[in-house]
Amino acid sequence: MTTPHNIYIHVPYCMSKCRYCAFFSSAVRPDWEKYTLEMCTEIQYWGRILNHAPVPTIFFGGGTPSLMPADAFGRILDTVAKCFQIQHECEITIEANPGTIDAARLGDFQAAGMNRLSVGVQSLNDADLKFLGRRHTVNDARRLLDAGHAANLRVSADFIYGLPGQTADTVAATCREINAIGLRHCSMYELTIEAGTPLAADRPAMPSNNEMAEMYDAIGRTLAIARYEVSNYAAPGDECRHNANVWDGAPYIGIGRGAAGRPLINGAWYEQMGAGAQFTELSRRDRAIEKVITGMRTMRGVEMTADVRDVINHDFVASHRNLVMIDGDRMHATNAGILTLDNLLIELIG
Ligand code: SF4
Repeated sequence: MTTPHNIYIHVPYCMSKCRYCAFFSSAVRPDWEKYTLEMCTEIQYWGRILNHAPVPTIFFGGGTPSLMPADAFGRILDTVAKCFQIQHECEITIEANPGTIDAARLGDFQAAGMNRLSVGVQSLNDADLKFLGRRHTVNDARRLLDAGHAANLRVSADFIYGLPGQTADTVAATCREINAIGLRHCSMYELTIEAGTPLAADRPAMPSNNEMAEMYDAIGRTLAIARYEVSNYAAPGDECRHNANVWDGAPYIGIGRGAAGRPLINGAWYEQMGAGAQFTELSRRDRAIEKVITGMRTMRGVEMTADVRDVINHDFVASHRNLVMIDGDRMHATNAGILTLDNLLIELIG
């Protein structure tokens, strides 16, 4: 049987650019018909290459995929269904920004197959939303979360912490509000100032590294759901299966402008972007290093398969039990290791 492949579909369009954003996205009104055809052509291409592989998850990320017309979304899923085997209980996520989709349109997307909603909330404070250059208010975000819950969708929300003036106490207060909303999944990202963004030009007075670490610790202690990846928290069984698969080293393809994938074809791994535009075979070592980098971000860690064992500095592991633990057939970072993950990975990869 052909190896299952997860599918990531990128929709790189937004209503406007947020002030901190360095993602591949632009604030233009796209020709949806043209872009839908482009994505469907790429899906058909990969369906042939991957021999109609089973698909466990489909993730529409952005940009702002919730700007898409619902019929375009439906046509893309129909194309996936024709060119691949969508598995029973396939997780189909769409990222949505408040103010771009209401309960009625949410129903149209749901009818087309969406079963998981990931909302870009970013903050529960209107002044902070303004600072970040978000177009929506806290009320807009709450309404969308409520609509998602009312529709019985699996609902996640993204938040940003570490804004100027925030402390462990204010971040903990936000976490208590998240608990009250009843979210079973959320992502908590530290604000990073990316060069070339309007926020970088303002040179805001950012919290120190120690203060950021205190906020990160407060999040872990206060949220009612557990951290399962550096920035992701879920109730048991509500982890994002798409991301968990990718972090675990499962194959995936990227559809749409700027989307990257890691397909596995006849036992060889490839770095992929577009339909054949960029298609480079990865060495066994390079793919194993990628697996270590993504796997070590998760609390369950990376599976110690033979290729992973070959790229690990075993002396470092043996002498740094405070940072890295081997548990059965998996290796993971300790709480102390997670706080210094970037440096840890440099030492860990031999
Ligand atoms: S909505 Fe997301 S992708 Fe779009 S500009 Fe804002 S941060 Fe960037």
